[in-house]
Amino acid sequence: MTAATPPTPLDAVTAGIAHAARIAGREPAGVTLIAVSKTHPAEAIAPLLAAGQRVFGENRVQEAAAKWPALRESYPDATLHLIGQLQSNKADEAVALFDAIHAVDRASLVDALAAAMAKAGRRPDCFLQVNIGAEAQKGGCPIADLPALLDRARAADLPVAGLMCIPPADLEPAPYFALLAKLARDAGLTGLSMGMSSDYETAVTLGATHVRVGSALFGARA
Ligand SMILES: *Cc1c(COP(=O)(O)O)cnc(C)c1O
Repeated sequence: MTAATPPTPLDAVTAGIAHAARIAGREPAGVTLIAVSKTHPAEAIAPLLAAGQRVFGENRVQEAAAKWPALRESYPDATLHLIGQLQSNKADEAVALFDAIHAVDRASLVDALAAAMAKAGRRPDCFLQVNIGAEAQKGGCPIADLPALLDRARAADLPVAGLMCIPPADLEPAPYFALLAKLARDAGLTGLSMGMSSDYETAVTLGATHVRVGSALFGARA
């Protein structure tokens, strides 16, 4: 590499995560960058794989099933996170395809995933999604219902890795990230899936263990 080579978007995001982690007195290695490749074709994903990125996020089971088996033949160590809403009737397919599932937000889905995992003998990490801004149109479990959902997930022996949220779009995200971190602490959970292209550094300073970054890596979605 010559001195004139500009940093790639992946370099820039990786540096942003490392910088935010150091500010917070954390190890950069404690933050997993999930490269959100939804809507982008395999040709756009391949350069990130070639550059060493191994963790990717998709929000639709069907789209991931179409794109990823071929990519995984070349990169068997790539891992795939489902970050979008999941219908219970797709639990089997999701458990077969994904290494982590981030939008577990209701008892019926907990039960469907537990059944799918028992059948498949495969146990993707699960993040319970919290509707952190109490927005009617958003997925996620209401904050008040989180203890019951967590009890149910633990009773079903779901591998609960932590909590996930998407803060309200047009408000300062930091208070919501801090609230999710507190909810996780209170619940004895260490994983925090929070932060997207516009706010991943803030999320890392507030404890994110998984940031879900799409457009900052791939450019704007159509
Ligand atoms: C699309 C998406 C992201 C990535 O969003 P960017 O703003 O492109 O980084 C993160 N999390 C979820 C749940 C998403 O659906």
